[in-house]
Amino acid sequence: MMKKSLRIFITGVVQGVGFRPFVYRSAKKHCLSGFVKNTVDGVLIEIKGNNSDVDNFLDEIKNSHPQGAKIRSIIAHSTPGGKAKTFKILKSSEELSQQPEIPPDIAICNHCRDEIFDKKNRRYGYPFTNCVDCGPRFTILNNLPYDRKNTSMKKFKMCPECKKEYILPDNRRFHAQTNCCQVCGPKVFLICPPSKLMAKENTAIIKTAKLLQEGKIIAIKGIGGFHLACDALSKASVKSLRERKKREEKPFAVMARDIQTIEEFCDISDIEKQHLLSSAAPILLLKKKNIFLFDDIAPHNRYLGVMLPYTGVHQLIFANSNLKMLVMTSGNISEEPICTQNKEVVEKLSEIADFFLFHDRDIISGCDDSVIRVLPDEKVMMIRKSRGYAPDAILSPFKIRHLALGCGSDIKNTFCFGVDKMFYISHHIGDLENISAMDLYKTSINRYRKLLRFDPEIIAYDAHPDYFSSSISLSDDFFPDCRKIPVYHHHAHICSCMVENNLKNQRVIGVAFDGTGYGNDGNLWGSEFLVCDYSYFENLGHLRPIRLPGGEKAIKEIWRIAVAYLYDAFGKDFEKNLVRHNKPETLDSIIKMIKKGINSPYSRGMGRFFDAVSCICGLRNTVSYEGQAAMEIESLLSTTEMGKPYNFDIADDSGIIIIDQRRTIRELVNDLNESLSLSMISLRFHSTIVKMIYDVCRIIRKKTGIIEVVLSGGCFQNVFLSVNVKKLLEKNGFNVYAHNKLPSNDACISVGQAAIAGFLK
Ligand code: ZN
Ligand code: ZN
Ligand code: FE
Repeated sequence: MMKKSLRIFITGVVQGVGFRPFVYRSAKKHCLSGFVKNTVDGVLIEIKGNNSDVDNFLDEIKNSHPQGAKIRSIIAHSTPGGKAKTFKILKSSEELSQQPEIPPDIAICNHCRDEIFDKKNRRYGYPFTNCVDCGPRFTILNNLPYDRKNTSMKKFKMCPECKKEYILPDNRRFHAQTNCCQVCGPKVFLICPPSKLMAKENTAIIKTAKLLQEGKIIAIKGIGGFHLACDALSKASVKSLRERKKREEKPFAVMARDIQTIEEFCDISDIEKQHLLSSAAPILLLKKKNIFLFDDIAPHNRYLGVMLPYTGVHQLIFANSNLKMLVMTSGNISEEPICTQNKEVVEKLSEIADFFLFHDRDIISGCDDSVIRVLPDEKVMMIRKSRGYAPDAILSPFKIRHLALGCGSDIKNTFCFGVDKMFYISHHIGDLENISAMDLYKTSINRYRKLLRFDPEIIAYDAHPDYFSSSISLSDDFFPDCRKIPVYHHHAHICSCMVENNLKNQRVIGVAFDGTGYGNDGNLWGSEFLVCDYSYFENLGHLRPIRLPGGEKAIKEIWRIAVAYLYDAFGKDFEKNLVRHNKPETLDSIIKMIKKGINSPYSRGMGRFFDAVSCICGLRNTVSYEGQAAMEIESLLSTTEMGKPYNFDIADDSGIIIIDQRRTIRELVNDLNESLSLSMISLRFHSTIVKMIYDVCRIIRKKTGIIEVVLSGGCFQNVFLSVNVKKLLEKNGFNVYAHNKLPSNDACISVGQAAIAGFLK
C-alpha cells in the first residue's frame, strides 16, 4: 500500500465551531497519524497514511467541514512526514491570531435535535442541548479567544458527565465550550408579568405551547434577543399582536414547524430548503402559493418571510403542540432595538406580551434574525445580514493602509472595521433614530473594538450633516485623536460592492439606486451614475429631480410625491383624480409649494419614483414602512421577462446626463386610462428602469471606455431589476458586479466607507 504525507494549511477558519475536533475525528476514521493545531494565521494539519485514505481525508476537509467554519483557502503539499503513530490535537500557541475571527451563532444541529427527542438520552427534553457543531456563539461572547470563561456560560459549571464529554477526543462535545445539560446548564421559566412564576423547565415549555395554541402572545427569549410569538393561523392573535405592537402593515416573519408545512403555503426550491436548513437558519422570503394567503401577516405581498425552529426551545414548543406556524417578530417597541435582558423586557413589552418565556443564560449582544432571498440564478440576495452570518469578514482587494472604521448609514446601520487585508462587518444594528438605538450603536462599536483588539486611526462617516452616525463620530468623546473624513453616500455604496467583488482600484461605472442620500451638491441623491474608484468619484448622470412637497412628510405620504411627478409631467392640467388623499391640504396648496419651492427640497431618489408610480397606479397613498410601495409594485409582476418599456428622454446638462421621466409618466397614465392591467403596467415600468440603466451606461461607456458596471443601493433588492439589468448589460459587452455577500441596501455603506478611508494615502 502506497503511503503519503501532506502538510495542509487552512485559512479563514472560525473559532468555536468544532473544526479541530472534526479534523481529529476524520483523521481517526481514515487511520491517519499526525497533528492539527491553530497557528497565528490559520489551522495547520500534518497527516500521514495510505494514499487513498489521505485523499479521502482531504476530500472530507474540503467538502464536509462544519458549516460555520467559513474556510477561505486550503493549501496542501507533500512533506516527508513525521514519525508520529497517532493523531493528536496540539496545543495552540497562546498568542491570538493577528486577525481573529468572531464565530457566528449556529442553529441546533441534527444530532442534538435527535437527542432532545430521544427518551433514553440524558438530554431528553433539554432545550439548551448543544455541541461543538451548534449553539450560540457571538451573542454570548464577552471576549476572545472563544472559551467558556469568556462567554455567558461562565456561570454554569459543567457537571462531571458534561466534563467527561468535554475532555474525550472521540466525543462530539470534545472541547465544546458551551457544553451543558439539565443538571448543570441554563433553564427556562415562564412568567406572568410583572413577576409571577408560572412554571419551570419542561413544564414551562409545555405550558407555553398550550398558551400559544389558546391564542396568547408570548415573549420568548431566544439566541439574539426576544421574539414576540403567536399562532400564525389564528387571525385574532395576529390582529391583536399588530394592534398591541402598533405595527400596521409591515410584514411579520413566521416560524414553520417543518419544511412540509412550508410547502403547503409557499413555493420552495431545493436550494431554498438548503438555506432554511443551514447552520445560519435565516428568514427566507418565499413566494406564497397565492398573494392573498396570510394577508394579515404579509399584506399585499407576494412573499412571506419564513424560518425553521433553530433552537431547542423552538423545537420543543412545536413538539408539544399542534401549532403549524408561529408569528415570530422581534421583541421590541416600535423602532427600538430588540430586547435582550429579562428585566427590561417586562418593562417594555408587558403591554404587548401576555406571558414571558425566560431563560437564565445572558445575551451579551442582541442580534436580529437574518433575512435572505434566493435569486432565479440560485445566488443569495442578503436583505438583513445578522444572526448566523454576523459578524462577517470580507477579504480586501487591497492592503488597507490605515486601521479604518466605517460608521455606516443611519438606516439599517452596520459598522465596519478595516484592518490589514480584512473588513470586519458588524451585525445589523438597525435604524439610528432614538436614544436606545444610538446607545446600542456606541456600545456595539466598543464591543467589537475589544473583540478585535482594534483602535481606529481613521474614521469615515456619511457626509449627511443631519445623520446621527455622523454627529456621533464627530463628537469629541468618540476617538478624539482620530482623523475623521466624510464619505458621500453613493460613493460608499459602489465601493462596498467593489470590495465584495474583489475589484482592485480601477475606474468603474457605479449605478447607485436607492431612496435617498446626501450628495456633494447638498441635494438628496438616489439615482446616480458615478464614475469612480476608491479615491475618486464624479457624477455623470441621474433622474430629473422632483420637488418633495412637505419634505420628510412626503416620504410617508407618498401621494405628495405623486402630485409632484404628475404636475411635472402634465403641468397644471394633470388628472387630479389619480391622487386620492384625505389630508386638509388641497392639491392647489401642494402645487403652490412645488411651484415656489416652499418646504419642498429636490429629490432624485429612484425609490421616490417607485413611490409616485405606486400611488398613481392606485395601490396606496401613504406608506407605513420603508420600501412598502416599491415592494407592492414588484409584487404585481407575474414574469421576470422584460416587457415593452415606456419612453423617456435623455438630456445633457453641461456634461451630466439627465433622464427625463416625464414621457414615462404620461404614457403610464395613458395605459391606466385605457385600463391596461396593473400587472402589465408594472412590467412596463420595471422594464423602463432597466432600459434607463442600459442606455445611460452605454453613453458613459462611449465617453470613458469603461465597461465595468457596479450595482448597489436598496432598489437592487428588486429581483426583476437586478436580474434584468445584469442580463441586458452583460449581453451587450459590460462586466456587471452586484452584491451577494452584503445587502445592497444601506447595510453595506460602512464597508464602502472603511474601504475609502483605508485606501487613503
Ligand atoms: Zn449540536
Ligand atoms: Zn451537565
Ligand atoms: Fe442608500
